[in-house]
Amino acid sequence: MEFESILLPGIDDKRPLVIAGPCSAETEEQVTATARQLADNGVKIYRAGVWKPRTKPGGFEGIGSPALGWMMQAKKETGMYMSTEVATEKHVYESLKYGIDMLWIGARTAANPFAVQEIADTLKGVDIPILIKNPVNPDLELWIGALERLYNAGIKRLGVIHRGFSTPDKTIYRNLPQWHIPIELKRRYPTLPIICDPSHIGGARNLIAKISQQAMDLNFSGLIIESHCSPDEAWSDKAQQVTPDALKEILDNLVIRDTVQTTEDLSDLREQIDELDNELLQLLAKRMRVSREIGQYKLEHHMPILQTQRYDQILTDRAAQGERMEMSGDFVKKVLEAIHSESVRQQMVIMERAKKNKD
Ligand code: PEP
Ligand code: MN
Repeated sequence: MEFESILLPGIDDKRPLVIAGPCSAETEEQVTATARQLADNGVKIYRAGVWKPRTKPGGFEGIGSPALGWMMQAKKETGMYMSTEVATEKHVYESLKYGIDMLWIGARTAANPFAVQEIADTLKGVDIPILIKNPVNPDLELWIGALERLYNAGIKRLGVIHRGFSTPDKTIYRNLPQWHIPIELKRRYPTLPIICDPSHIGGARNLIAKISQQAMDLNFSGLIIESHCSPDEAWSDKAQQVTPDALKEILDNLVIRDTVQTTEDLSDLREQIDELDNELLQLLAKRMRVSREIGQYKLEHHMPILQTQRYDQILTDRAAQGERMEMSGDFVKKVLEAIHSESVRQQMVIMERAKKNKD
């Protein structure tokens, strides 16, 4: 897939591209007041949810189409581009009818191929930029599948929004960032614009600045941040919304590191990394050779491949050693688990081969 890098004309490609606005459009006054303040603070693209996916029925499920009218009025007044979330064919038709400039697919919808296909079919032949949030579950292929469905419908102005992944565990985040997932997506599609949603990752105002900075340091193209004229009175997601002035402060304090300039100075260090990776691979291959010899010994002595006690011991000892060497114990455990599983696979090949020869 090849993507167009400019999502909306006239928005310069300086990082970060900023989209801001309330979680939900609530009243005409709230839509307008928030838009005015954001426009005064230099924001060019407005967001507001008009149809709200709620975990349980009975909550505020959005104003629906009349809110699109308020947004278009705010566009007339401020000149900002307008964007909203769509989940069904009807949402798409309504948004297009009112003249909304950009659409996004929410995290719950992105997890459902039927819904994404319905949106894609409705958009066939329409030239409008679409942003696809990551599915709620950490499944990169499902996220890419959603992209492909829209791409195949002829949409070329595509981008993605990283909003974190749901977790049953209590963490400081509302949704775990799992940065490696958007990083892998970027590796596979280098021209795809990736926008971070620190509001839904953090779920709390005080985390937005830090997550935004991390996204910039990871070379994301933009940020989508929930901003409300009176956040404490918001009808949805109030803990994570900030005033337009607080948003401006967050944006003004971001450090945008230049990507081009430092590449040359880095070449020495990168050579070192290449060499170290090479040594690591050779060591791993050597470890696998020893592991195969152990497999052969276990075979000859009728021993099972897996000896849990020994494996436990290895994990605990090495994690502690790793920590003494300034690495996270968790990281060392993960690496060893991966190495161990490859060792077991290789020993299984030896056992199977011996069985085949016997048969
Ligand atoms: C939103 O953007 O307000 C929203 C509902 O987000 P998500 O789909 O990421 O939960
Ligand atoms: Mn929200």
